Amino acid sequence: MKNRPISLLRRLLCCLLLLGLLAACGLLPPEPSSPAEPSDPAPGSIAAPDLTGTLSVHFFDVAQADSALFIAPDGATMLIDAGDVATKQELQEKLKKLGVQKIDILIGTHPHSDHIGGMQQIVENFEIGRIYLPDASHTSKTFQNLLQSIADRKIPTYEAKAGVTFSLGNRVSCQMLAPCQSYDDLNNASAVVHVVYGEVSFLMTGDAETASEADMLKNDPTALASTVLKMGHHGSSTSSSLAFLDAVSPTYAVISCGIGNSYGHPHTETLEHLAARGIVTFRTDELGDICMQTDGVNLSFDKDGQVPAAEADSLAYVYVTESGKTYHKEDCSALSKSKTKKRISLAEAKEQGYSACKRCFKN
Ligand SMILES: [Zn+2]
Ligand SMILES: [Zn+2]
Repeated sequence: MKNRPISLLRRLLCCLLLLGLLAACGLLPPEPSSPAEPSDPAPGSIAAPDLTGTLSVHFFDVAQADSALFIAPDGATMLIDAGDVATKQELQEKLKKLGVQKIDILIGTHPHSDHIGGMQQIVENFEIGRIYLPDASHTSKTFQNLLQSIADRKIPTYEAKAGVTFSLGNRVSCQMLAPCQSYDDLNNASAVVHVVYGEVSFLMTGDAETASEADMLKNDPTALASTVLKMGHHGSSTSSSLAFLDAVSPTYAVISCGIGNSYGHPHTETLEHLAARGIVTFRTDELGDICMQTDGVNLSFDKDGQVPAAEADSLAYVYVTESGKTYHKEDCSALSKSKTKKRISLAEAKEQGYSACKRCFKN
């Protein structure tokens, strides 16, 4: 839509005019004395908004860990997670290669080392505008050292939680959708960030699992809709519940995980769910670093993702029950009441003498 930037500019000019009038009349509220929630960090840039340009998103291959960099059309930068300790040098070099000198917004989704392990290196080698961390702690030396580094450099730090909004530069808006409350499980404490540029949006979920997803769904399911979903917890089946996946309804998914990781990430169920919905999936273990670019309408990629092949041998899993003699698909109504439902490979089921359920395998 061509008239959007013009109407935005007009609105901004009207706002400025109104602010000027209010100020002249002495009607403006006093400046807050404490550091306010930085919902608009760059007031100076309002006068000349950048109305064209590209948002680049780099999903870095940091092995079994997470790190993604956003570079806004006006050059503002946001790094969400910084991988683990093992790849900290590598990550620093990747950022330098991309010309990054300052990170305006740094987000540690949660204190696990595969998300904040490389962050001390970033804090100590780049100028940082401000940091968001959830109200969750960890006794690990890695996390404590990071906190010390942040304190030493007096970097403004804010709590990451649902409801926090801020802009990245002057065209990209961000809203945190989680954590909605405190959780015993650190993964669920993950900051979940919705990044919107024009009609294209990214949902960055850290390691949020189904408990946090349920809270986000309860809060506002319509706020979740996104073009690209960074799958929660490296594609684990403990994240990306069907209700959440359907509310986000992404066209593309990104899974950040390491080759042959010991957790079996991404889990087969997750890939099956993506396959069933035809969601084009990008995996860092298969593709390495992935760069997506958008002008706010179109999205382009430097690598090709693909819809996971649900029929592949590695994905052929079925469900059996203790007393039954047939194997089923996950959503078979015959399983709905079973408490002993067990997931095994199709080959295993056949070997053990199970036959196909006529209800769900009728074709
Ligand atoms: Zn975690
Ligand atoms: Zn993780």
